[in-house]
Amino acid sequence: MQALQQKIREEGIVLSDQVLKVDAFLNHQIDPALMQLIGDEFARLFADAGITKIVTIEASGIAPAVMTGLRLGVPVIFARKHQSLTLTENLLTASVYSFTKQTENTVAISPRHLSSSDRVLVIDDFLANGKASQALISIIKQAGATVAGIGIVIEKSFQGGRAELDSQGYRVESLARVKSLEGGVVSFI
Ligand code: 5GP
Repeated sequence: MQALQQKIREEGIVLSDQVLKVDAFLNHQIDPALMQLIGDEFARLFADAGITKIVTIEASGIAPAVMTGLRLGVPVIFARKHQSLTLTENLLTASVYSFTKQTENTVAISPRHLSSSDRVLVIDDFLANGKASQALISIIKQAGATVAGIGIVIEKSFQGGRAELDSQGYRVESLARVKSLEGGVVSFI
């Protein structure tokens, strides 16, 4: 996606060979016009996939997921990282190792919002080693629902997440595929 690549080139900050900071438009400050384009593109790519729900993970997946849900006309569920007093029922949970925080977290979704008839599109901001996506897939499967596809805003193709999801047979669509961050330069596939 041209507009996204341009934004990454102009406003992304390479923190190391492994980590790209996009706080200027996705992870802290959000560019709504770009999010709308991202939602339009995911909706176009998955238009024929029979999606009934979108699942993402708080907080940075929510903006692209909501714009996609708006376009596809389906609800968006975000997995929560912290136990809430209002989430009292038996939750569907999975453990996820955070790439950026280097801690293990439990993420949870209420079973009230997912059923076995759902065809789910997973959306996330980044794909690195695939731990966040795998946790969401686990929760979706616990609900008996089907993972119809995975939409990633920025894939770091030099890490292992993409290959693992491919080998499991999932359809992965990434809007920007970063080949390398070496030397402080972002290069795309
Ligand atoms: P994974 O679970 O695939 O290893 O990593 C994906 C998650 O880690 C995303 O939800 C994202 O929040 C975070 N993440 C991974 N790599 C990066 C990165 O280079 N920059 C930022 N800002 N977040 C990342």
